[in-house]
Amino acid sequence: MCGLSGVWAITLLKDKISKIKFLKSLRTRILLILLIVGLIPCVSMRYAILQNYERRAVSLRTSDITTQLRILANHLITYHYLQDTSSEVINAELSQLSSLYDGRVMIINNDLRIVKDTYGISENKTMISEEVVRCIKGESASKYDRDNGYIEMTIPITETVAPGGGESGAAGRREVVRGAMLVSASTDSIMATMDALSRQALIIGVIVMIAILIVSVLAAKMLIHPFEKITAALDKAQEGYTDDPISVTDCIETEHIGDAFNRVLGRMKVLDDSRQEFVSNVSHELKTPITSMKVLADSLLAQNDVPIEVYQDFMSDIAGEIEREDKIINDLLSLVKMDRTAADLNIAEVDINVLVELIMRRLRPIAQKRDVELVYESARQVTAAVDEVKITLVISNLVENAIKYNKEHGWVKVTLDADHQFFTLVVADSGIGIPEDAVDQIYERFYRVDKSRSREIGGTGLGLAITKNAILMHRGSIRVESKVDEGTTFTVKIPLSYIPA
Ligand code: ADP
Repeated sequence: MCGLSGVWAITLLKDKISKIKFLKSLRTRILLILLIVGLIPCVSMRYAILQNYERRAVSLRTSDITTQLRILANHLITYHYLQDTSSEVINAELSQLSSLYDGRVMIINNDLRIVKDTYGISENKTMISEEVVRCIKGESASKYDRDNGYIEMTIPITETVAPGGGESGAAGRREVVRGAMLVSASTDSIMATMDALSRQALIIGVIVMIAILIVSVLAAKMLIHPFEKITAALDKAQEGYTDDPISVTDCIETEHIGDAFNRVLGRMKVLDDSRQEFVSNVSHELKTPITSMKVLADSLLAQNDVPIEVYQDFMSDIAGEIEREDKIINDLLSLVKMDRTAADLNIAEVDINVLVELIMRRLRPIAQKRDVELVYESARQVTAAVDEVKITLVISNLVENAIKYNKEHGWVKVTLDADHQFFTLVVADSGIGIPEDAVDQIYERFYRVDKSRSREIGGTGLGLAITKNAILMHRGSIRVESKVDEGTTFTVKIPLSYIPA
């Protein structure tokens, strides 16, 4: 629960920070991080040094006073001061001690009566304090009161006595508490030193802070500089659409950004080139039949009294060109449809055997016209989830090509088979074959191995591009094997059930 609320608080904080506009700047973030990283050790060091000094100074002062008081306690016993406070020596010693430590010394006897007070205000009064009572029992204590600026100490006044009160023999001697000393010493001098130290530390801190600020500003500027350079280079590329690759080698990160942008630029260029090439190819292909028609029409118009047979002949040529123009436009429209997303697929369960048979029946007259034998073999019954219109285009394009690019008395063999995952359609022919160096290009739009022959037999160079696109939309594959003058075999593999991306 606590962890969750912690994460929630961090997310909220991040959200708040991202909303503060000036914190969105990388420069400000770097500046703040450097400032914080520089200032934290500075401030904590100042605090630690002052604390340490205070602790050491108080402890030194305490042990110093303790030593002095122990000596004094011995003198008090020697001069029987607890019984008679008239001793000049002790009184001088006491006043010296109290002025030395800017404090107050009280001598208290075993009856808790104050026999001497260096302030002279509490003499003969009874002192009832826990520390003094404990001190009479032999316990010494010290206490540092920081707020009021003094150290308070209680030291027992002890006398060493022999058992039975005699003076002789060290053995069996014991310490007897005769009274207590209560001392409060001022710590003003320690505080004054600390104030001076604190002031010095503050001055040094301010100097260090200014230095850190300058260094942070310079470092932030230096770190941001490569990014500013890459932004400028990108702006330049965008303004002029320059072909020069972007290169900012100041740091690895900007190099990576430059490389990534160059890759995008390269891809854009390839797409742009291919678009331009496609547009020029389309224009050329569409222009050719129109040019032929214009030539035919012009030559008819240029002649007077043209016989009706010539008219008919020319008009049938013009009709042929119109048919060709129509085919190109239809193929282009099919290709444009294929370029759309897979969402445009109209998937349904289709009996592939029936579909192939239907296409074969439709193409048989063309095959007969060219004296090409059309054979169909099906290894099993195949039903697949496909877009019927697009798969029809695939099969008819391949079979039509096999008929078109065949030889006289040639054959085309279509074989259908399937496993548990794919159905395989093989279209083999005994035709002219495809040269090895052209095999990789046959799927390109408007590519034809022999332009004039293809044109003669009504090819547009778009058939295989449409075929490949349709197969890829179904997540299938197409493979070709060919030998010039021997024949070509296309193998198509398509999943039985459509797998969306
Ligand atoms: P086209 O409309 O010209 O037939 P395609 O894209 O269908 O265009 O085919 C591209 C080229 O590939 C054809 O021009 C032809 O040179 C070659 N090709 C396609 N199929 C065959 C085949 N079965 N045998 C020989 N060459 C073929």
